[in-house]
Amino acid sequence: MFICQHCKSQVSAREPSFLFTAKTRDKIYPSRASVNKYRQEHKIKNTDDPGGVGVETVEEKQVCKLCYHALKQLESSNGPLSAKNN
Ligand SMILES: [Zn+2]
Repeated sequence: MFICQHCKSQVSAREPSFLFTAKTRDKIYPSRASVNKYRQEHKIKNTDDPGGVGVETVEEKQVCKLCYHALKQLESSNGPLSAKNN
């Protein structure tokens, strides 16, 4: 039993909740020197992490099944919501 964070209605027990990613943002991960360790021929060797570009979640909502499918359809027709919320 939970309250949907989109339509604010109480959902009955044994109904599953869905996590909808409401906001995302672009993230640049910096490169890190010699952080990945591995063992080769009984020696521990280090490699660099190159870093890169990714996406991180800013806000998630616990929503009911109907709201989840409606929000997913809205997102797919209008493009990702993250572009609006940045
Ligand atoms: Zn709902």
